[in-house]
Amino acid sequence: MTFVTLLQALDEAAAGDYALGAFNVSDLVQAEAVLDAAAATASPVIVQAIAGGSAHASDERFWGALVGLIKTYDEVPVVLHLDHGPDFATCARAIAAGFTSVMIDGSLRADRRTPSSFEENVAVTAEVVEYAHAGGVSVEGELGTIGGVEGGTGEAKEIVLADPDQAAEFVRRTGVDALAVAIGTSHGAYKFDREPDGEVLRLDLTERIHALTSGTHLVMHGSSTLPAELRAEVNAYGGTLPESWGVPMAEKVRSIGMGVRKINQGMDSHLAFTAAVRRTLATDGLNVDPAGYERAGREAMRALLVDRMRDFRSAGQAKRPRS
Ligand SMILES: [Zn+2]
Repeated sequence: MTFVTLLQALDEAAAGDYALGAFNVSDLVQAEAVLDAAAATASPVIVQAIAGGSAHASDERFWGALVGLIKTYDEVPVVLHLDHGPDFATCARAIAAGFTSVMIDGSLRADRRTPSSFEENVAVTAEVVEYAHAGGVSVEGELGTIGGVEGGTGEAKEIVLADPDQAAEFVRRTGVDALAVAIGTSHGAYKFDREPDGEVLRLDLTERIHALTSGTHLVMHGSSTLPAELRAEVNAYGGTLPESWGVPMAEKVRSIGMGVRKINQGMDSHLAFTAAVRRTLATDGLNVDPAGYERAGREAMRALLVDRMRDFRSAGQAKRPRS
């Protein structure tokens, strides 16, 4: 069976002491890159999509095609996860489309900028949990607000760090299967203006929250490394990305030992894909067929994700006997 829920996949990861990468896809070509990397490394994987965030004209048509594509990869367990569901209705749409996991991001109000109150977050999250669990679907909630820009466009948000005592209460009152905790990371291609240390990247919070919420799997958002060589390649072919530091791989690996089982990183994939597309377009001025540059993007993204799956120790785990 290809499809598994987030809870099944993260329970396995906890038992085997590894983490799963959760990789954003904005079209079917990127989805193939993720699934090919998972198949090549025998890695369970989380494919995630943001509502309204794809290259396709309709979420429902894209999601339907995504479900069909995933079914052809029957050698690896795959979680199809909605990233940052803004409200109950969007989560319900994803569940109807066949997602096995949804994130309800109740950390922000409907304007997607103003932090919501703790009680507001609990209320909407508990409502989604009740609905999703009735259909056998997992739920990730978010506490505190993760900074930066989801999906790469819009206005950057302020970071509000998660509070460990509130995290325990949040998990108890909502029944979420996984919890995204704001520990200083941010979304997008610009994260830190220096190499992050213990003051900006608060892994100590992860450790305290894990101790208080035993049994709940923690999720780290905004975890791309932002490799300098990929930024340089994008910029060599017309990009204007500012210098920035992402989350060092060593810190991601360290977080696995602190209860982090889902590591969200969309931006590294996008950087690898876009760098290859820009290079291909720039070096072959006569070619107008998208197949060539999309193939180059897919292959570059696949190669990067193979490395990530090894680093997170999910590689090989699809072959591990299921508990
Ligand atoms: Zn996120």
